Amino acid sequence: MADHLMSTYARLPVQFDRGNGIWLWDTEGRQYLDALSGIAVCALGHAHPNVTRALAEQAALLVHTSNLYGIGLQEELADRLCSLSGMERVFFCNSGAEANEAAIKIARLYGHSREITCPAIIVMENSFHGRTLATLTATGNRKVQAGFEPLVRGFIRVPFNDLAAIDAVAETKNDVVAVLVEPVQGEGGINIPDPGYLEGIRKICDSRSWLMMLDEIQTGIGRTGKWFAFQHESLSPDVVTVAKALGNGVPIGTCMAHGVAAEMLQPGTHGTTFGGNPLSARAALAVLDCIESENLVANAGILGQKLRTGFIDSLSGTAGVVDIRGSGLMIGIELDRPCGELVRTALDRGLLINVTAERVVRLLPPLITTDHQAEMIVEKVSELIQEFLAE
Ligand SMILES: *Cc1c(COP(=O)(O)O)cnc(C)c1O
Repeated sequence: MADHLMSTYARLPVQFDRGNGIWLWDTEGRQYLDALSGIAVCALGHAHPNVTRALAEQAALLVHTSNLYGIGLQEELADRLCSLSGMERVFFCNSGAEANEAAIKIARLYGHSREITCPAIIVMENSFHGRTLATLTATGNRKVQAGFEPLVRGFIRVPFNDLAAIDAVAETKNDVVAVLVEPVQGEGGINIPDPGYLEGIRKICDSRSWLMMLDEIQTGIGRTGKWFAFQHESLSPDVVTVAKALGNGVPIGTCMAHGVAAEMLQPGTHGTTFGGNPLSARAALAVLDCIESENLVANAGILGQKLRTGFIDSLSGTAGVVDIRGSGLMIGIELDRPCGELVRTALDRGLLINVTAERVVRLLPPLITTDHQAEMIVEKVSELIQEFLAE
């Protein structure tokens, strides 16, 4: 019974007790195809042997010491992340929201260093940045904010994928210090901006001396077919936040920074007890090793294309299907009506999917998905959508 859990979640009536790759088994022994990966977390699938081994070995050696002391594995992980991202310094925490909190604090310190006493950050409509007070304020979804007023000051909201709107703010406000944006909006409905959008933001930030801060918590660590989604364009941000897939399910997040932004946090200005402890750092190192050695970043790009082509073949022209879009293994199928009930129908058929922004079927399959499994996903999801729309 869940009577003693706070009612934070509207949970589906299923519990899993075992996983292997893309597959999960519930407590009754039924098998499920997991096309959601624990919301873009288990990029290597479930119970990946390399991660399991790394965790078991590290747990037997040392789990935690605190950041009062040096942590070699954390340093090693920071080196790896910096060489993959082009960033210079890394702060480790335990979740996505905390990674964004660090980014927001960096922007505030940066503002104060420039004698801006009430620094503001530009954020987007339909964005999602987390559930802490600052990150829910940054989030562009009233449902996430309602009831938690007073919200945090210092955020200015503009439409996503609209450079002119950012320019307009630049013309009228002189306390802006940063832009915080997802390269692809995940929770907002797999919204992909026009090519050049991020480069455009980079140019505005350069001309105004603002920090360009990217929330890559969902897009990062290979999901879009590059290690980081900004690498599809030629630019380098000042701050990048990452979490979800970094530990394949072991909680770890990071706020990475470059240049002046990397020098903002100093002893006493920020910290967290667990962040980057030996266990989570070891897990993340195993994840990066594995993604690299199995060539999974490229796989995400190739398979994403295959999935999109598959869905276009099977669904385009179907009345009720508005759009099929994606970036690598972040895939959205937008319908013309609310379709939240599809999640339950899919579950009953042994398939895990998600619906976001009310009308968008969202798929976030693991990076280890095979060609054959991709075909199964296209077949099962197409059938589900066709039957739903025919009702
Ligand atoms: C999931 C997510 C977050 C929040 O991460 P938590 O670990 O749940 O705090 C923030 N930003 C984006 C883009 C996300 O997808």
